[in-house]
Amino acid sequence: MKQQQNKIDTYRRKFLGEGVALAATVTIAPGVLLHNIARAKPAEEAVTSEVRWGFLIDANKCASDCNACVTACNEENGLTGFDRPETDAQWIRKVTVRDKQTNFSVNLPMMCQHCAEPPCVDVCPTGASMKREDGIVLVDKHICIGCRYCMMACPYKARSFVHETLTDQLPDMPRGKGTVESCTLCVHRVDRGETPACAEACVDAEKGAILFGDLNDANSDIAKRIAAEASTQVRGDLRLDPGVRYQGI
Ligand code: SF4
Ligand code: SF4
Repeated sequence: MKQQQNKIDTYRRKFLGEGVALAATVTIAPGVLLHNIARAKPAEEAVTSEVRWGFLIDANKCASDCNACVTACNEENGLTGFDRPETDAQWIRKVTVRDKQTNFSVNLPMMCQHCAEPPCVDVCPTGASMKREDGIVLVDKHICIGCRYCMMACPYKARSFVHETLTDQLPDMPRGKGTVESCTLCVHRVDRGETPACAEACVDAEKGAILFGDLNDANSDIAKRIAAEASTQVRGDLRLDPGVRYQGI
């Protein structure tokens, strides 16, 4: 537990900058945990709907030549690829959005948006597509029959199909030929009390564009920023209530 908290504190210090973090640390009593950027779920805590995990992504801080989040996701989840870009699994991708009138463009990472009303779950005939109480949308590979209805239903093109036989899989993220998969919000890390790999890599790349946290906790950094600053949901008109919010678009 102490080791987990150290990892979270390190992430927070990097995200906020040492000066801000030091100012924060003097305001808390020894042993009292901050409601922090990366307050992921301690392993002994049950999954509960009191928490809703999400991201706030600032497109203004996302550099067009940076791919750190994509690389981190691929490494974390063993998405090695087969040099077939059109079919290789891609759980997060960089997207460029351009205003045709002004030519102004921004870059943003897109992953599964962890919708509160996920159509992928609605259409799944076996229940393999599911949403956890804490808002994380997952696929149970053991009961996925590979029908790909969820891929058609997802308006964010967030899901991939595993076409190839896989070798050298990672213990934290078993995958299976003939099943559908997408961003898990790094559930294995969150359940260990850690931050998703893409968010951590973004901080390490000194961009700080991806903020992870509990949208339901009014005292979390992510909820405070969403309350204080303008942000948007991509295709909010679809009323799927994504857990990933964006700024600068
Ligand atoms: Fe499902 Fe797509 Fe929404 Fe993710 S983004 S929860 S895959 S509909
Ligand atoms: Fe990939 Fe994890 Fe980030 Fe999802 S949360 S895009 S699985 S690194």
